[in-house]
Amino acid sequence: MKAITVEPKKPGSARYEDFPEPEVGEGSVLVEAVAVGVCGTDVEIVEGKYGWAPPGKKSLVLGHESLGRVIDPGPNSSLKKGDLVVGIVRRPDPVPCPNCAVGEWDMCRNGQYTERGIKEIHGFMSERWRIEPEYVIKVDPSLGILGVLLEPTTVVTKALEQVVAVGQRAFWEPETLLVTGAGPIGLLAAFVASLRGIEVHVLDRVETGLKPELVRDLGAIYHSGSVLDLGFEPDVIIECTGVGSVIADAIQKIGAGGIICLTGVGTGGVASRAVADVAAAAVLKNNVIVGSVNANKRHWYKAAKALANADRKWMGRLITRREKPENFKQALERKPDDIKVIIQFSDI
Ligand SMILES: [Zn+2]
Repeated sequence: MKAITVEPKKPGSARYEDFPEPEVGEGSVLVEAVAVGVCGTDVEIVEGKYGWAPPGKKSLVLGHESLGRVIDPGPNSSLKKGDLVVGIVRRPDPVPCPNCAVGEWDMCRNGQYTERGIKEIHGFMSERWRIEPEYVIKVDPSLGILGVLLEPTTVVTKALEQVVAVGQRAFWEPETLLVTGAGPIGLLAAFVASLRGIEVHVLDRVETGLKPELVRDLGAIYHSGSVLDLGFEPDVIIECTGVGSVIADAIQKIGAGGIICLTGVGTGGVASRAVADVAAAAVLKNNVIVGSVNANKRHWYKAAKALANADRKWMGRLITRREKPENFKQALERKPDDIKVIIQFSDI
C-alpha cells in the first residue's frame, strides 16, 4: 500500500511511498482510509521540529485527524463492515501515571503517552490502517466526509469542559465568550460554545471573506483588530492563536471572575506588562488561566454527538481544500483562504 511517511527530526524527509500493510499487532480492526485532516502539528513534523518514529523504526506514518471505513471489524468489536470511523490519537503511558490509569490520558502526568502520527505510533495517512477496537469512534454515517473534523472537535470539547469545571468553583453565569483566532480550532470552539446558549464572539485578523461569514452564519459576532478594543469584558476567552500579544491582551481584557483557556501552542512574544502586574490583576479579579490539550474518550463521545447534530452545510464550509495523497506537499502549504485542508484517500 501507499503511505505518507516522514523521518522525524529530519526536515524535507516526508514522502508518499510504498509501505508495508499494517501489522495485526496494531489492532484487530482493519480500516480503509477515507481522509485525513492536516494541521499545524503535521507541518511541524514535516519541517523536522517535532515527532518520534515507533521504537526501532526510522520513519513514522503521518496524520492524526482520521476518517476511515471499516474493512474488517475483527473478532472483538461491535463494528460492522462499512462503518465510518475515526481513530483516537493518544494512548496512555505504560507506567501508568494516575491520570492515564483512570482513562484521562489527555491529562498524562509523566509525558510518556504515545500518539498516532505524532509520537511513536504510526498515524492514519496510509491507504489502510489498523486500530484497537477500544480506540475506535464510530461516526454518524450521514456526516460523510465531515467525520474528518471529529478530532479537532474533541480538542475544543475538552477545552470547554475545562472552562466549565473551573467555573464551578463559584456561582457562575457566564454571558459572553470570546474565541481568539478563526482557524479550524477557533471556529469549532465557536460552534461547540454556541450549543451552550452563551453569546459567542470570534476575533481574527482578517476583515472579510469566509471566516467572518462563517462566524455570522453561526449566529455569533465577528471582530477584527485588537482584543483590547472590544467594547466588553468577556467572561470566558478560548485562546486559539498561540500568539504572545493576543494572549497578553486576553489576560488584560478578561472580566472579573473570568476564565481564559489556552489551546494554541506558539513560541516567543515579548512581555508587554510586568509579571507581577498581570498576577495582581488576576488576583483582584479572581481570574483563572487554564491550559488544555488533547482529549480523552469522554470528549470523543461528546464531540461525536455535537458533530452528529451540526448543520452539515455550515460544517462543510470549514473544509476549504481537498488534496490527493500524492499532492500532500500542497496540502501542507498554508494558503490565505484555507481553513481545514484534508488529504482524501478514497471516495465516500
Ligand atoms: Zn500518563
